[in-house]
Amino acid sequence: MQLTVEQRDILALVRDFVDAEVAPYASEFDHRDEFPEEMVEKLKEMGLFGITIPEEYGGLGQDLLTYALVVKELSRGWISLSGVVNTHFMAAWMIEHFGTEEQRGTYLPRMATGELRSAYSMTEPHAGSDVQAIRTQAVLDGDSYVVNGQKMWVTNGLRAGMVMLLAVTNPAAEPRHRGMTAFIIEKEPGAHEQPGLTVPPQLQKLGYKGVESTELVFQDFRTPATSVLGGADGVGRGFKYFMSAVELGRVNVAARALGLATAAFEAAIRYAQQRETFGQPISDHQAIQIKLAQMGTKIRAAELMVVDAARLKASGVRADLEAGMAKLFATEVAQEATLEAMRIHGGYGYSKEFVVERLYRDSPLLILGEGTNEIQQLLIARRLIEQHKV
Ligand SMILES: Cc1cc2nc3c(=O)[nH]c(=O)nc-3n(C[C@H](O)[C@H](O)[C@H](O)COP(=O)(O)OP(=O)(O)OC[C@H]3O[C@@H](n4cnc5c(N)ncnc54)[C@H](O)[C@@H]3O)c2cc1C
Repeated sequence: MQLTVEQRDILALVRDFVDAEVAPYASEFDHRDEFPEEMVEKLKEMGLFGITIPEEYGGLGQDLLTYALVVKELSRGWISLSGVVNTHFMAAWMIEHFGTEEQRGTYLPRMATGELRSAYSMTEPHAGSDVQAIRTQAVLDGDSYVVNGQKMWVTNGLRAGMVMLLAVTNPAAEPRHRGMTAFIIEKEPGAHEQPGLTVPPQLQKLGYKGVESTELVFQDFRTPATSVLGGADGVGRGFKYFMSAVELGRVNVAARALGLATAAFEAAIRYAQQRETFGQPISDHQAIQIKLAQMGTKIRAAELMVVDAARLKASGVRADLEAGMAKLFATEVAQEATLEAMRIHGGYGYSKEFVVERLYRDSPLLILGEGTNEIQQLLIARRLIEQHKV
């Protein structure tokens, strides 16, 4: 893969960090469901919270490809660590592209250092795939909006100091999405209660541990009118802004899947050469070789799709089809690779002593999140039919 010297340097730095400080400890943190404070501090030091934020706002000014490859490396160590960065990256991207100059100046420098970390919240208890069915309302009252409603599955919902929030500002709008607005909500990081906002205890999950997923309950929460993303012009445009970020999110999830699948493959090919049955390493058995060949080939294909989608999107070309295909393919590969890695490990794959049990528990999130793979296929088909209209 052709990369610049700068891209290679950043990736080498992240890879070394992951090998030395993430991969060896990730399962312990996962088993304790513990937030990785020190690892996150290291991400800040490396500037990764500002990786795509322009240099003029204190970021590293890197493109989506560099970001995707960094996410792959972090996820190879532990997808929860990339989860700490992902919602933040999407919120920063939205502020950069749709925010006012004042919003860029206010938020991006603090986001670049990681001093201010962001969550990203559309989903509600009754509305995930059907985003237009959200009910959280923001009503203008003087110079502030009053927010009421409940959000669900907010990654980084407790520790984040801000939330990019989608809310309904005009319930009568037709179609509904024209009545939705994005807000930059400032909150107290780590607080379960603050005026107008309750963050209940974190949701208990199969995997993706360490990083919290929470509900957010807004009850007469006041946010200044100036917190509308894009200022007065942004009113009614929130859905569009969020959907643009979701397209990025798909490249991002595909990159996470690639990292997870790579970790499963690396564990499997190592173990296959160490474990002996019937007097020879299991890697000498053709049944195991076929599994390794399938995993290696599919991971390579997933990598090419991720790189292609990231490059296209970074060049400003419409890339929803390619991003969707990369998300669909890479996440299904990760699901398959983590199970195959477990099979190669035999009974030990089921043990908490080996990394593959964690990888196996982490992989389903990727086929569900950022648009389920069922929805993903509907979107892919819709675009393909558009392109091949008779
Ligand atoms: C750990 C975790 C972290 C998350 N983090 C965030 C976050 O930070 N911010 C955020 O906003 N959201 C987040 N989410 C929410 C996530 O994006 C949603 O869970 C996801 O979009 C699916 O929505 P749902 O769970 O409501 O499922 P539903 O929409 O209820 O879907 C249920 C099933 O029906 C299928 N289905 C629905 N509609 C159709 C259709 N038209 N045709 C065919 N099949 C259909 C779906 O594919 C799925 O199989 C997170 C979720 C998880 C699990």
